[in-house]
Amino acid sequence: MSPAINGVGPAEALDYKSALEILQNEYPERDGIDVQTLVDSKLNGGLTYNDFLILPGYIGFPANEVNLETPVTKRISLKTPFLSSPMDTVTEHEMAIYIALLGGLGVIHHNCSPDEQAEMVRKVKRFENGFILDPVCIPPTMTVGEVKALRQKCGYGGFPVTESGSLNSKLIGIITNRDIQFHNKHDDTVTTVMSKDLVTARRGISLEDANDLVRSSKKGKLPIVDENGNLTALVSRSDLMKNLNYPLASKLPDSKQLISAAAIGTRPEDKIRLQKLVDAGLDIVILDSSQGNSMYQIEMIKFIKETYPGLDVIGGNVVTREQAAGLIAAGADGLRIGMGSGSACITQEVMAVGRPQAAAVFNVTSFAARFGVPCIADGGIQNVGHIVKGLALGASTVMMGGLLAGTTESPGESFVSREGQLVKAYRGMGSIDAMEDKKAAGGGKDSKASNAGTARYFSEGDRLLVAQGVSGSVLDRGSITKFVPYLMAGVQHSLQDIGCTSLTEMRGNVLEGKVRFELRTASAQLEGNVHGLHSYDKKLYS
Ligand code: GDP
Ligand code: 5GP
Repeated sequence: MSPAINGVGPAEALDYKSALEILQNEYPERDGIDVQTLVDSKLNGGLTYNDFLILPGYIGFPANEVNLETPVTKRISLKTPFLSSPMDTVTEHEMAIYIALLGGLGVIHHNCSPDEQAEMVRKVKRFENGFILDPVCIPPTMTVGEVKALRQKCGYGGFPVTESGSLNSKLIGIITNRDIQFHNKHDDTVTTVMSKDLVTARRGISLEDANDLVRSSKKGKLPIVDENGNLTALVSRSDLMKNLNYPLASKLPDSKQLISAAAIGTRPEDKIRLQKLVDAGLDIVILDSSQGNSMYQIEMIKFIKETYPGLDVIGGNVVTREQAAGLIAAGADGLRIGMGSGSACITQEVMAVGRPQAAAVFNVTSFAARFGVPCIADGGIQNVGHIVKGLALGASTVMMGGLLAGTTESPGESFVSREGQLVKAYRGMGSIDAMEDKKAAGGGKDSKASNAGTARYFSEGDRLLVAQGVSGSVLDRGSITKFVPYLMAGVQHSLQDIGCTSLTEMRGNVLEGKVRFELRTASAQLEGNVHGLHSYDKKLYS
């Protein structure tokens, strides 16, 4: 036996093998607690994400090899576990397109008319990275003066000229800024100045080949035509830098289109809305209800499974096993978990109903897993750590509202707050603001909430709107094309610390008791955050 070190008793032999032997023989219980003990509410109360930590494991692989592939429904998997909330300050087509390109999924909100929502779904399905699928076209009869006005209005000056002046008509020329800049005879038609000697590409060309052609031809625009010379799309040189490859993009096997998801309510008129969304190419529908275990939702799930066997349906929201059971039995392909944990929610305060999110996630996911039903941890995600905790507790994906509302791809413009910071609006769908939105009401005052997302928080016969959410703002975050890769890298590094090479491995190791946890006292939570500094700058990524 070696001599005592620093007076801490006689030191044991220092080689690795005997250290392991001592560990196995004298400490049969692994360090920390298992997940069942952690979330035992009789012992610990209902936990939130901040109430615990995951203990580190062994790192034997690089972080960028951690596989984040995960199911979102029984049939559909994503390359990253990130979903954006169906809220009118979070997900419209732009968010849905870009988060899908980055491997996640945006759920388009329904606080708008069915036609508007269907149009957004259509835009997601039609989107082809790098190709402008709806370029503004002009007819040969248009004058130079009119083109100059159009240029002012659109902000760009490259217009394909087609026989009928619209897409899918024969391409006869192209007008660019340079053609009209110094042409002062405004009554001349565009045919006098347009370029007719065009470099074009055939429909079906890959983005890579199209980009190569734009580079080698040294032209500003590459029109894409079909076998009859009809214009079908346009590629712009100025987009070359943006036309990145998105290897993680969420697509169904054998499809070039992005996966699209949208939310609806459970009222009879939502069936008409759903038909429009399905016609637009919808892949996944989420039934948007704050308390999903209702006869309306169960009936709706059965209706959808019978009427649209190719459409996946996610039920919710639920926070207990019993709620989940009803929806699983009705045929739900996925579940959404959370009640009152969202950053803009006041449900728990007003209704006295809900559940702390960590407790809700574990209790529902451990039950749903028996039926192969993937779950979304929805709400209360404030940082990468929360995402990992939701996933460790069994969720297959996480849904974020507030965290993504400040990005460029969410609806609306940034503005400067009273404190001088750049912010974007964010509001709960159960806020008075959202519920009173005329657009949401789909018409006159009396139709309030009858045709819209607000139905989630508004029941028939209600004379008074009772708010379950607030309206406010969040800090501007820039583009999700930077933010989501940050979240992804953060989750990969976290799994590396935990010692798991994939989300699937982590879920298995949690249930087998190999991934261990520790409860966090109030002072541990203080210790785990920045403390004792006079001032600091919290920059999360660069
Ligand atoms: P231009 O030289 O003035 O035509 O403008 P650029 O080609 O430099 O920029 C056009 C930008 O507008 C690109 O980012 C395009 O993707 C975008 N854009 C969006 N819709 C259209 C469209 O219908 N036609 C054209 N030409 N550009 C569009
Ligand atoms: P966050 O990511 O901002 O914490 O939470 C987003 C989630 O909050 C949404 O996906 C949705 O489930 C929930 N939510 C959105 N609006 C409201 C609301 O007004 N009241 C309640 N109770 N929940 C809301």
